[in-house]
Amino acid sequence: MNDLADKIVLVTGGSGGIGAAIAGQFAALGCRVAIAARDHKKLATAAEKIAENGAQVRAIACDVTRREEVQRLRIAIQELWGDVQILVNNAGIASAVSFADMSDATWDRTLDTNLTGAYNCCKVFLPAMIEANWGRIVNIASTAAKVGYSHVTAYTASKHGLLGLTRSLALETARQGVTVNAICPGYVDDERTRENARIMAEKTGKSDDDILKIFAASAPQNRLIEATEVAALACLMASSQMSGMTGQAINVDGGAVMS
Ligand code: NDP
Repeated sequence: MNDLADKIVLVTGGSGGIGAAIAGQFAALGCRVAIAARDHKKLATAAEKIAENGAQVRAIACDVTRREEVQRLRIAIQELWGDVQILVNNAGIASAVSFADMSDATWDRTLDTNLTGAYNCCKVFLPAMIEANWGRIVNIASTAAKVGYSHVTAYTASKHGLLGLTRSLALETARQGVTVNAICPGYVDDERTRENARIMAEKTGKSDDDILKIFAASAPQNRLIEATEVAALACLMASSQMSGMTGQAINVDGGAVMS
């Protein structure tokens, strides 16, 4: 994947477990990496950690649900390095609640972040990719993009929507040097999964560890996924060797979902 050196990469949600791992792997390949999220302090901490090995990484605060902020992000990256060549739409939120108890605000926030956020970034960053006749969009979806799960209707709907966006955009850009693909992780061993385990433990009276074991057992490999495994696939999808792959949604889930 040496062809990725110096490429300009944007990872949204780059302060989170998966986003920081993705940003770290692109940076290790010699890319210039911008990470974006709302909380600038967390973002700056993540950037400092990635930059420890001399990598080129910048933290730029941005709420992906706000188109004008995404426009400002584009200008900031352009002034630094140039046009974004590889966009990783990773920013995402999830809340577990029954459909009956879910508020309209939860539905709106989830769809706005997970689906409209990715849409906003595609709208803003795709034109320069088309102009350059080269670009990569990698959408971080979930196995919830392919199958339904109970108590996460908004999340599941948003991730199914993200796959629809991936596939249609892949068709529209297929002759313009741009590929659009998605990654569908299962339970990833990160802070968000541990937080979900804590919440479920409180509700069920089980221990956090028991819940994490249940998460792991939902995959035939009986384990959680490492964020670095998701990151490795994101880098592979972005490489020139993968220019023939577009419109795909690849699971990294220990065999949990086979479609
Ligand atoms: P985290 O909660 O650790 O990170 C989420 C990131 O998204 C943070 O950087 C957060 O920063 C950012 N973010 C949230 N809302 C916005 C917004 N409106 N604008 C910009 N950034 C935002 O989650 P993970 O790293 O675990 O998840 C990353 C992606 O992977 C998500 O899309 C998630 O759905 C997906 N995924 C995760 C799985 C898991 O098991 N963890 C499994 C399958 C998929 P801030 O709050 O500061 O904005």
